[in-house]
Amino acid sequence: SACLVGSEMCIRDSEIRTPINAIMGMNELILRESKEASTIEYAQNIASASESLLGIINDILDLSKIESGKMEVVPANYSLRTLITDCCKMIEGRASAKKLELIIDADKTTPCNLYGDDVRLHQIITNILTNAVKYTHEGSVTLRIRWKSAGDGKKILLIVSVEDTGIGISDENKEKLFGSFERFDNEKNKGIEGTGLGLAITKQLVELMDGNIGVYSTIGKGSLFYVEIPQEIAALGELGDININKRTQNTVYKEKLVVPDKRILVVDDVKVNLKVIEGLLKKTQIQIETADGGAKCIEKAYNKKYDVILLDHMMPEIDGEDALKEIKKEGCINHDTPVIVLTAYVMAGAREKYIEKGFDDYLSKPVSGEDLEDMLIKYIKKEKNDE
Ligand code: ADP
Repeated sequence: SACLVGSEMCIRDSEIRTPINAIMGMNELILRESKEASTIEYAQNIASASESLLGIINDILDLSKIESGKMEVVPANYSLRTLITDCCKMIEGRASAKKLELIIDADKTTPCNLYGDDVRLHQIITNILTNAVKYTHEGSVTLRIRWKSAGDGKKILLIVSVEDTGIGISDENKEKLFGSFERFDNEKNKGIEGTGLGLAITKQLVELMDGNIGVYSTIGKGSLFYVEIPQEIAALGELGDININKRTQNTVYKEKLVVPDKRILVVDDVKVNLKVIEGLLKKTQIQIETADGGAKCIEKAYNKKYDVILLDHMMPEIDGEDALKEIKKEGCINHDTPVIVLTAYVMAGAREKYIEKGFDDYLSKPVSGEDLEDMLIKYIKKEKNDE
């Protein structure tokens, strides 16, 4: 796993994400359970601060992975429409909060079913969209999608650009733009949070994917960032129209399932994580049993049938993979119970790697209540299990 290169200590992803997981999870419980206006406001501040902290940490970990040559491009089949819609939904709230118009101008004939690393592409588009919104005070942000065929029938060049009517970048700064920790100070960007890592990571990701990134910008008028990335066509189908439904504002939490007759086993060596999951799933009334290590997990799995097992990966002594092997043995009453790995390992292709190892699915930390409920809905069959 990745280390913070350049620092004396070597810190693993999970060592950083585990406490953040606890902070964000516990805070989600406060937001749900508190009736006190001032407490809710404090908790909202904690939520937004921990979101930014997580963003910064993810950037630093990504950069160190890239620099140590450990960042891999993991291609898979994906839908360009889903990818673009996700990116737009992610940014839509922030754009409308600043009264910026978000315009999507996509060539309808762009092939929709592609083969490539959609996780990295998502990260690239998200980074330049986020910057456009951050550094624009009025006007609009336009996301453009174009394409060219490249050589034989299957290969295309995907061209994504983001144009804004923001503060712009001077010619002198354009040259430094893609370096690490470069931020430009001027009157206009005072008070805008950032680390100066976003574009450095974006450029490296684009290059890992054999693409190009560039910028046109006029100070005071706006900027246009473009990326050109080779992708392959996986199946027939065109992009068509992209619709983003405006997000519903601050929806109050409502549980998506109530299943008092179902039982799950949650395994994590960090006790506060067990508390977070118990708290997040409280309203579903599902029966929750916990184990604080691999050995306890195996013992419980051989004694009682569960509907789902949520299993942490990194644990001392018997880790998640070892426990999984025991659970999946014929003699175990839970050998066909879905086992979902909980992990702080968030590299592209992680899901595929875990499924290859025999897990049924994958949840990355920090897990939200919604992710957990969606996962349970997916694996808990509607009809009552006979035991
Ligand atoms: P961060 O936004 O965290 O500071 P980035 O690496 O994403 O870091 O960007 C580096 C710098 O480039 C920013 O600090 C900002 O000065 C400038 N910049 C990036 N995108 C834009 C944009 N769309 N308009 C104006 N300036 C930008």
